[in-house]
Amino acid sequence: MRALRFALDAVAPGTCLEGAAIEIDEPPGRAWCLRCAQTVEIASRTDACPRCGGHQIQPTGGTELRVLELLVHDD
Ligand SMILES: [Zn+2]
Repeated sequence: MRALRFALDAVAPGTCLEGAAIEIDEPPGRAWCLRCAQTVEIASRTDACPRCGGHQIQPTGGTELRVLELLVHDD
């Protein structure tokens, strides 16, 4: 995320992207819980299963970043 912000800062001055604001969302992680036999949402990879409290979970996602909005102010 820092790298992305840095890249934007580097490219922005003097271009149409100057003054652009970027909003980045980190989606909640998902993991497969062996005890519940279903996908559960976790806040971090070290969390226990929110349903059963078990640690037999395998993270399946949440490492990607999603850019929600790129706001360009044209003025
Ligand atoms: Zn569980």
